[in-house]
Amino acid sequence: MNSSYIEISQSSYQQNLQFLRKVAGKHAEVSLVVKGNAYGHGIEVMVPLACEQGFSHFSVFNYEEALRVKNVAKEDSDVMIMGFFAKEDTENVIQRELSFFVFDMERLDEAVNASERVGKKARIHLEFDTGMNRTGFSPKKATELIEYVKKHEKYLSLEGVCSHLAGAESIGNYVRIKRQVKHYNRILNEFDAKGLTPKFKHLACSAAAIRYPSLRYDMLRLGILQYGFWPSREVFIEYLNKRKRKIDPLQRTLSWKTQVMTKQSVKGGEYVGYGTSYLANQEMQLAILPIGYGHGFSRLLSNQGRVILNNNRTNVVGMVNMNAITVDITNIPNINIGDEAILIGSSADTEISVSSFGEMSTQMNYELLTRLPLDIPRKIVA
Ligand SMILES: *Cc1c(COP(=O)(O)O)cnc(C)c1O
Repeated sequence: MNSSYIEISQSSYQQNLQFLRKVAGKHAEVSLVVKGNAYGHGIEVMVPLACEQGFSHFSVFNYEEALRVKNVAKEDSDVMIMGFFAKEDTENVIQRELSFFVFDMERLDEAVNASERVGKKARIHLEFDTGMNRTGFSPKKATELIEYVKKHEKYLSLEGVCSHLAGAESIGNYVRIKRQVKHYNRILNEFDAKGLTPKFKHLACSAAAIRYPSLRYDMLRLGILQYGFWPSREVFIEYLNKRKRKIDPLQRTLSWKTQVMTKQSVKGGEYVGYGTSYLANQEMQLAILPIGYGHGFSRLLSNQGRVILNNNRTNVVGMVNMNAITVDITNIPNINIGDEAILIGSSADTEISVSSFGEMSTQMNYELLTRLPLDIPRKIVA
């Protein structure tokens, strides 16, 4: 049996999705980015909820995730692979009508060859590297690629022309982003001029969607916002400053909970747990929770993490172990074995956000969330 579980709030998720619709406006499609097991929330939980709200475009990193989405999404949903699949899976990808990023000639040639074998068009998004220096064709290749796609139009359906921005969540990257946009627009102009129009032009992730409405084009690829998190504090503050109503439109959708496994007391002057990382100044009451780094509760949270017990926030004392942590309950009365402990989430008066998990920056949201193991049960709550 699992020693912890994750709750997903359906109403919070719905509210976030409504906000995404507003951000996208009337003309841009929203592709919900559900890579990394829907940022740790669980593909099998989130995708059906999103379908109920009328969303039908999903983005993943690899083929395996795409299959998981396909399994639980509505029949007519579109799934876009932004990253990896093995060359041997190209035919499967085409057969299942998944669309996919193409960022080098090897994949483009293989798309054509596999399409011929399967007898279906490959639904491709040409990805350009406009300055991120990760994946994508050089903008200089645009002319050649346009010719290539036209020549092979029997095998290729041009779903998208896209690129990815290198850090739209920070104003410090503004100059770099601006250059990327310039390159991207030039590429689009060339496609237009040569009469090759993709179904979707798409560039923006969450931060860009909030910050630069002019970058919406035909589609937004939105990840972190849908789960109730801002890409960075900076984006949140900038958003609020532009509004009259200073209210956060997003709600966290995920809570992570466990329970008190046992209790313990320690005398003043004794060390708690392995080694000498925590010395009790005085007699302390402790609760032991059955959760550790083996369950995704990072060792970095040793002597740092926070937990809510009986509506009180308290601290992890000593090292995070593989399967257990120890927390201080000296000043929290009435804690019993079996009581609920909140690792991420809120109680009546207090909250532990993912980012205050330790004293880490919001940038860490992405990492902490996606590290939540697949096998923790996910439950939907109202
Ligand atoms: C992860 C990812 C996104 C979504 O980013 P968020 O900041 O979570 O909105 C968009 N596009 C690409 C290519 C990505 O890899």
